[in-house]
Amino acid sequence: MKKLMLVFVMLILLGSALLTWTFTPLKLPVAELADTRLPIATPPADMSLSALPTGSMESSAGFAFRGGDFLEKREFSTTAVLIHHPRGDLLFDAGLGRDVDAHMRTMPLLMRKFSKLTRGTPAAQQLKAQHYDLKQLAGVVLTHAHWDHISGVADLSGVPVWINADEHRFIDSDAPMAALARSFGALPYQEYAFDGGPYLGFAHSFDVWGDGSIVLVPAPGHTPGSIIAFIALPSGARYALLGDLVWQTEGIAIPTERPWLLRQMVDADSAAVRAGIEHVAAIHQCFPQFELLPAHDGRAFAKLPVYPATTQ
Ligand SMILES: [Zn+2]
Repeated sequence: MKKLMLVFVMLILLGSALLTWTFTPLKLPVAELADTRLPIATPPADMSLSALPTGSMESSAGFAFRGGDFLEKREFSTTAVLIHHPRGDLLFDAGLGRDVDAHMRTMPLLMRKFSKLTRGTPAAQQLKAQHYDLKQLAGVVLTHAHWDHISGVADLSGVPVWINADEHRFIDSDAPMAALARSFGALPYQEYAFDGGPYLGFAHSFDVWGDGSIVLVPAPGHTPGSIIAFIALPSGARYALLGDLVWQTEGIAIPTERPWLLRQMVDADSAAVRAGIEHVAAIHQCFPQFELLPAHDGRAFAKLPVYPATTQ
């Protein structure tokens, strides 16, 4: 009986230690930025950006980043971003699509339990309502291939899906987190390579239209082929679409990572995510003009005009 009591006490102690360790804020160091010059961009005068909110998930700050308050509600938005460029429009992530309920069922049960969905209007429907011709879309660029970023792709039939080789391999693997993308079968994938030089301390980059207005860099960890997209608009406004490197802006501002349990559930390589956060935190310190857009930070996306309104 005494032994049983001892085991019970040990378990309680271990449990509380684990909880404290998991949820106490752990401030990550800020990396050293090798190049502190703002990259040159010459965006065309009629380039513009719009947000297409497709729904959200209700969660709390405590689930978003280490040290967040569990009682503080946070909206995990799922918003596609349309960037109009005379060389071709791009949609960054597709958000939640028409068949979101079926799509969600491809996720592991535990993941679904963490996601209380509010359905919005799918991106394709928002575009159609404004008589937008999908042929104007050069592609949907995925920050990564998780279900809540790719669900809306199913409604955009025929639109090329831009992806890098690492993320393509991730989709073709047996990773449960890529189950929805895999279930879509042969999408019109268009592979791009990071064939450009260093950019903001990233060793390689892909300058989409060659004018510095849309530059993609590899930011692996959350998934093997996760990316960050740096956008420069004609007004001089700059944005960083961070995908799920962090879920809320505090991840970079503090900087800090996701709580332990969530890292185990959603990140392919936590150490690589951590390195990415430390790097982007350095960019944020050096260039505060970059508006940070973590893919699920409803407050950050609320600052953007909703399609058909645009900002330049
Ligand atoms: Zn994700």
